[in-house]
Amino acid sequence: MLKSLYRRFSNDIGIDLGTANTLVYLKGHGIIINEPSIVAVNRKTGQIVAVGHEAKKMWGKTPAHIEIIRPLIEGVVSDFDMTEEMLAYFIRKAEKLSKKFFRPRVVIGVPSGITNVEMRAVYDAGIDAGAREVFLVEEAMAAAIGVRLPVLDPRATFIVDIGGGTTDVALISLGGVVRSLNLRIAGDHFNERIIEYLRDEFKLLVGEPTAESVKLALGSAIETEYQEIEVRGRDLVTGLPRALMVTDGDIREALMRPIGFLLAAIREVLETAPPEMMSDILKTGIVLTGGGAMLPGLPELLEQELSLPIHIAQDPLSAVARGTGIILENFEQYESVILPLDEHVVI
Ligand code: ADP
Ligand code: MG
Repeated sequence: MLKSLYRRFSNDIGIDLGTANTLVYLKGHGIIINEPSIVAVNRKTGQIVAVGHEAKKMWGKTPAHIEIIRPLIEGVVSDFDMTEEMLAYFIRKAEKLSKKFFRPRVVIGVPSGITNVEMRAVYDAGIDAGAREVFLVEEAMAAAIGVRLPVLDPRATFIVDIGGGTTDVALISLGGVVRSLNLRIAGDHFNERIIEYLRDEFKLLVGEPTAESVKLALGSAIETEYQEIEVRGRDLVTGLPRALMVTDGDIREALMRPIGFLLAAIREVLETAPPEMMSDILKTGIVLTGGGAMLPGLPELLEQELSLPIHIAQDPLSAVARGTGIILENFEQYESVILPLDEHVVI
């Protein structure tokens, strides 16, 4: 009786704690929060000035005492305190939106290849932020579940989640990760390459937000139609503002090397996969999730290079969050995908 009452009132949530975006899934409702994983902090007072959308607006335009922090920039907790603050903000916001009072049970997606110490840090951040219980699941696993791939079956599911800070390449079977690779080459790195390219080729200095919008406007992995846009920044020779026309070809050239790294990582996981899984992989191919999967031409390029079918997940940005939601809604069925937490790790 108590248990069923509890269930009715519980406000269990799933969180995709991404390096670029945090999404929150409320059990029985769906995704209720989708905001950038960004915190603005006043370094003089130590106070949090803004989180999420509000903090992103300040990006690249802050005075010296306000710092914009992306606590998960490396895909793992690079700034524990800020991760905790951010998690607390999103959990409180979810509680407000759900209008329920109980402390939630929380399923959190973490990058694969996360160390025990980092897992513990995310776990503690969740508990300190007000969660009653915290369950961790690898993001690649959550993404595969979110796309409704048969992860519990004895057959190969190959998933590549390209986020902001990290890319997860994972081969899954029987509810577990058989092979995986986590690399720090993803959307942010693409932006950095664009900044370097404009600096080296055109002597134009731009910030990250501009690089990001150039990527979204012109980025591609293979040649399609000719496109150009005006990019504004600081001329490194004169020090003054300058506008310049940049083409899709320029940006493709800038992105060639990081895309090569992604390809190499996928190859490596394929090459070390058990031979018995090859026939499944040949048949079902690879599923791409995460914002980076939306880079035009990426599936075509991977298909050419790997001779495997490549599919982009529907709504690739929300796959992990939907996966944490499916785990919450069917907890017993998916219990095996929850990561074991080493109780003895102390940080
Ligand atoms: P994370 O899980 O790390 O928070 P996301 O899955 O939310 O990351 O993806 C964010 C990344 O996807 C950003 O680097 C963003 O620039 C990139 N991205 C979003 N849309 C596109 C697109 N259309 N083309 C290329 N990259 C994109
Ligand atoms: Mg992600």
